[in-house]
Formats: sequence, C-alpha cells, structure tokens
Amino acid sequence: MKTTILGHPRIGEKRELKKAIESYWKENIEETTLLKIASDIKKKNWLHQKEIGIDIIPSNDFSLYDQVLDMSLTLNCIPKRFRELKNKVSFIDLYFAMARGFQKDNFDIVALEMTKWFDTNYHYLVPEFEKAQKFELNSCKIVSEYREALKEGIKTKPVLIGPLTYLLIGKEKENGFHRIDLIDRLLPVYIKLIEELQNEGVTNIQFDEPYLSLNLTDKERACYLETYTILRAKFPKLTFVLANYFGDLNDNLNLTLSLPIDVLHVDLVRGLDELDSILIHQKKEQILSLGIVDGRNIWKNNFNASIEIINKVIAVKGDNIWISSSCSLLHSPYDLENEREGSIPEEVTQWLAFTKQKLQEIVLLKKTAQNNLQASDIKEIEANKLAFINKNNSTLIHNKKVKHRINVLTQADSLRKSIFVERQIKQKAALQLPLFPTTTIGSFPQTKEVRSLRLKYRKHQLSEEKYNSFLEKEITSAIQFQENIGLDVLVHGEFERNDMVEYFGERLAGFTFSSFGWVQSYGTRCVKPPILFGDVSRENSMTVKWTEYAQSLSKKHVKGMLTGPVTILQWSFVRDDQPRAETCNQIALAIRDEVADLEKAGIKIIQIDEPAIREGLPLRKSNWAAYLKWAVNAFKISASVVKDETQIHTHMCYSEFNDIIANIAAMDADVITIETSRSEMELLDVFVDFKYPNEIGPGVYDIHSPRVPNVNEIENLLMKATNLLPQENIWVNPDCGLKTRDWPETIAALENLVASAKLMRESLSATV
Ligand code: GLN
Ligand code: ZN
Repeated sequence: MKTTILGHPRIGEKRELKKAIESYWKENIEETTLLKIASDIKKKNWLHQKEIGIDIIPSNDFSLYDQVLDMSLTLNCIPKRFRELKNKVSFIDLYFAMARGFQKDNFDIVALEMTKWFDTNYHYLVPEFEKAQKFELNSCKIVSEYREALKEGIKTKPVLIGPLTYLLIGKEKENGFHRIDLIDRLLPVYIKLIEELQNEGVTNIQFDEPYLSLNLTDKERACYLETYTILRAKFPKLTFVLANYFGDLNDNLNLTLSLPIDVLHVDLVRGLDELDSILIHQKKEQILSLGIVDGRNIWKNNFNASIEIINKVIAVKGDNIWISSSCSLLHSPYDLENEREGSIPEEVTQWLAFTKQKLQEIVLLKKTAQNNLQASDIKEIEANKLAFINKNNSTLIHNKKVKHRINVLTQADSLRKSIFVERQIKQKAALQLPLFPTTTIGSFPQTKEVRSLRLKYRKHQLSEEKYNSFLEKEITSAIQFQENIGLDVLVHGEFERNDMVEYFGERLAGFTFSSFGWVQSYGTRCVKPPILFGDVSRENSMTVKWTEYAQSLSKKHVKGMLTGPVTILQWSFVRDDQPRAETCNQIALAIRDEVADLEKAGIKIIQIDEPAIREGLPLRKSNWAAYLKWAVNAFKISASVVKDETQIHTHMCYSEFNDIIANIAAMDADVITIETSRSEMELLDVFVDFKYPNEIGPGVYDIHSPRVPNVNEIENLLMKATNLLPQENIWVNPDCGLKTRDWPETIAALENLVASAKLMRESLSATV
C-alpha cells in the first residue's frame, strides 16, 4: 500500500511564482532569477510531501504557466504564427508569447486560445493542430524536473498528459482531418520521451487521461486501446499509472479496465458508484489507486466513510492499492495553517483541509488502513470524527428557517405572474423606452482611485463616512455622464464592488473568506473563491442603498444589478454535505429577497447576471438535463417575485449557446444581453433559428479591448440584428461590464453607441 497524489499546487504558498513571473515580464528580474524561484518552489513542494509521508511524489506537475502548454512545447507543437519568433527570442519568451501573445518589434501574434480545463475554473492553452501537423521531442522539462528532484533524494513519478487526452483537448485549425488521426504521428514522440525517462531511471509514469470521464466515440475508444497496447509492448518494465479524474468512467469503464496498465487511478469523489464494479472486473495484479481525498475542494475528508471504503477495497485487492487525491491538488489552496489569524471563523476552520492538510489525510488514511497508528494519529482521527459530528449539528451551518423555505418551495415560486407577451405590453407602457433602448452591463471603469479607496476602507484606513461620500460622488458623476450622453437605462456603476461574487458572498450568511486561499485560474492569475459552508440567507439588503441613491439622481430608469445564484455557486468552494441544487436554491431565495426589496424601493428594471450558467454543464451530456433543470429553476426563483411591469434582465458573456438555447429561453428573463460583437453577430443565429421569444441586447462592441468602435460599425451590427430579430425586441449595449476599461475609451465608445441607436431610430421612422 502506497500514498501518492496526482499533482501539487505550484503557485507558491504566498503566490511567489506569480510575483516572480510578473516581475520577469516587466523586465525587473532575469530569467535565471525566475528559474531559481521556480526551482525553490518545486523543491519545497517535494520535500514537504516527503516529510509528510507521501510515498510516490509527482514531478512535472509544476509549470511556469500551464501544463498543457508545457506539453505542447515538449512535443514541438508550435503554431505556424510563432515559428518565426522561435529564432528571435529565447525559449522561455517563446513560451510566454504562446501563452500571452506577442506585440513587439513588428510582431503582432495572438496567443493560443484559452479554455476551461474540464469543469474546473483552471484554464489551459488549447493545442492547435494542422493537417500536416508534425511532432518532435523538444528540450525536455520532464527529464530535467526528474533530475532536479533526484538531487533532493526523491525519485519521482513524472506526470504526463496522456497522448489521447492531449489530442482530444486540442483543436483542428484546418478542415479535412480529425485530431485523433494525428496519433500515429504523436505516438513515436511519446515513445521517444518515455525512452528518455526510462534511461534516466524512471520507474513510475503517470498518464493523465481525464478525457475518459467524457463521452468517447468508438474510434476514440479503439484508439485508447491501441495506443496503450503499443506503449506497453515498448516498455514492458515501466510501471504505467493511468489516471482518470473529474468523473466516473461510465461507458468507458470496460475499455479502461482492458488497458494494459499497472495502476489504475479512479476518482472516488465523483465515481464512487462504480467502485463495486471495478473491484469485480479489475485484473487481480493491477493496482487500484483510490482518489479518495477531494483534490478540488477544501473540505476535510470524512475518515469514517473513507476507511469503510478502503477496507472494502483491501478485502479484494489486499495490499495492491494506492491512496491518493481524486485529482491534482492544483485546484486547492496551499495550507490552512496560514489562515490562523485570518477571517475564517474557528468553527468553520475545523471542517477545512487545504493541500497540506489533504496530504496529511492521505497519509493518515494509509496508516489507519494498515493499523499503524501512533498516539498523535489517533488524536487526529478523533478530531476528524468530532468535526463531522459538529458539522451535523452546527447552528452556523444549519438554519431551520432556510431549510423550511426550501421545503415549501413550489412551482409557482419560479413562475412570473403572466407570460412574456403580456409582460412585454405592460412593461412597454410602464417604462416608456424608445426603440433600440441603450444601456450598459453594469460596471464602469474601476480606476486606481476607486480600487485604492475601497482597499483603504477594507483595511479600516478610511472611515465609513468618507468612503460613502466618495461612492456618492462616483455614482453621481456616473449618472450625470450617462444622462449627458443620452443612455436610456442607467446603472450606478458598481464602484463599491470588488468582485461580482465576493461582494454578495460577503453580505450573505453561509459564506466565509480565506486570506491566502488562492488557486491558479490561469497563468499568473489566481483567484480566492468564497467558501460557501452553510445555509445561505440574506439578513439585510445588499444593493438597495446604492441603487436607490443612483435612482434618486435621475428621472431615467436605473437598473438594479445582482449576481445570479448559479454564478455565485459556480465561482465558490461549495459545501459538499448536500446537493449543489439545494445550495443553489438557497442562494436563489436570498437573491429573490433582494429583487423584492429593489422593486419595493421603486427600481423598475433589475438585472441578474448569470455568466457562469454554461460553464456549470456536467462533463457528460447525459447529465446535462438534470443540471439545466435546477440551474434554470434557481434563476427563475430569484427573478419571479416581481410584478409583470418590473423588467428582469440577465447577462451572459461566454457565448456558445447552441446546445442550451432552449434552456436559456426557459429562464424567461425579459431581456438578455449577450456577447456577439466578436463574431459580427453570428452568435445571434442560434437565437434566430430558435426564434428566441424575449428581448435581446446583442453586445455591439467588445469591451475586452480598448479599441473604440465607430458609429458606422455599430450601426452595421444593429442593421444585421434588425434583419434577424423583431426590432422592438432589440437592445443596444456593450458585450460586458466596463470595469476593466479606462474612462476615455468608455466615454468615446458609449457616445458612438448612443449615436448609432439614434441613427437606427431615425432610419426606421423614415421608412415607416
Ligand atoms: N454586471 C457585471 C459587470 O458589469 C457583469 C460582469 C460579467 O458579466 N462577468 O461588471
Ligand atoms: Zn459579461
């Protein structure tokens, strides 16, 4: 019996890597200094695992930016547009150029596309393939990291992205082939790489194949079998670890069990139901690696439950098991001990485990399974049991009132009073907006001043009074600005908000916040997700004061601005002691209360942002319907409290609505604003084909760039939209919030936006 993990966080305990890389980009430190800092982090990670008692420690789980990009460079899978750069800049600069684009010395090369790593909040750089794609073994980080650890006396298990997952997470950049067909060219390079590793003395190699948690075609399945059979024949002596995670194996179970590998790693957090079947069918001599400690959450492992599972496995497999994290610990923060003086309540702390604690749990589970406990271990186990008993009884977690409200929810709570066509008539009468009403998505530029004053206030260096009057001043000038340029529906600007989820989390019961709970989102960007530990409720209104204030300054309508339940859920560390659907409904009720209060305060238009609804989709299509049902319903619970005259907006920025357009329509928001500008309104097609019934604000310019769109181009986009949609359903707005922009370009862009809406109105009244 051995302990292992699939990977360790790599940003450094206090985000040292982020800081070093950003200094390198600013040319404040040299490459050698950066590499030294990186190497110190790796060393620390390895030694720390060894000290805690992890038997099989991974290497090549480190990365300066992204492990998929690392693999692309190792395989020399470098898109054409970067090849010229290859001879002009150092290897590391080429690497960063692929990650971030390169605009210097007459080059203007766009970065690789970035997308979500399965259903996590980590983003990877998508490998790009061409039809004549060639692969070659490049300077090998995998070998050098292995050597680096060996110097510390640690013989690691190098982690490779498995060849099939590598191909499948990539993208064809040309027509006429499927990326899976590239396996014949890819495999020889993997073989070379593995040969090198073998020559170095490597014995265990971990192949990450999380794609086995997804739906595969027959061809892809056949390809898995063929590939691993070839690898096996080439390397009969190496220990092949095949790691699946982020889900169960499901219809790939038989395939996976037939692969000629030595260790099969399964995700027991998400795939426990399959364990019995695995135990019946797995080859006797094959080791089963139990991904039993959740790698992507922050909750303590339930020892009672885990030991029961492990004992069941031992009864069949004997000593032939590894105890492990469900996936790489990349997705959990470093160390709970850093929070000692932080803001997490004592009571909550006892339920948490960050990476370091998870490593200890893994070791403790093995010791327990082997009946090898010392006095201090027994104490730990007792504490674990106690924590779970406390959790069941905690009044901090369990709120009878909230549970009661959930229990008495009925269908009527997620239905507006009337259907959309009737509401639309009433809203047109109540709101008196012109055709092509103009608006923005909520936030205005968060200038240095806004950020710094907010921070000072948070650090108690600025009095509440001064901070409030600063906010009043910002809101007043935002309202004046919007009136001056002639926008129709105004916003207060969100100056008081740091982050659209954190702001609400801080105001809701059931949430807490860590001080150092950072996890990598992509490259040097780290996020500190709120910790949603208990029943959610809203004690006081959260947005009414500023919205009401803004409304008092104008006769035009000011839009209330809320974050939706699914997005709040999706971007937090969520409790695992009840279904996500139930937690989501609790948030929905809290937002519903806020919606009701806004309406009571006289706000006639309320936007509930749900940018994360699409990313919550489960990995397997068969699970989509169930998710969409509760997600859509939660949104409706939050929105349906209002009278017909009150207009509910929603906003989503990540497009690709193709698969879920019916569900988007089912949310039944009166108005939806979406991103369409980058694709010249092509993304609207799906709304058109579906005959989306409600009003739509197709974003008319891309806020991700400082470029100011001119009147003509916005008008052209609006013309396109008018050809596709009923004109009385069209809104005019940018494609997302403006908080990352500066004022000058914001002013210019919005002036043009208003001007083009006016031109549209004129040209239409001329034709009538
Ligand atoms: N209302 C938010 C804003 O304008 C929406 C942000 C988002 O869609 N991610 O900033
Ligand atoms: Zn957006």
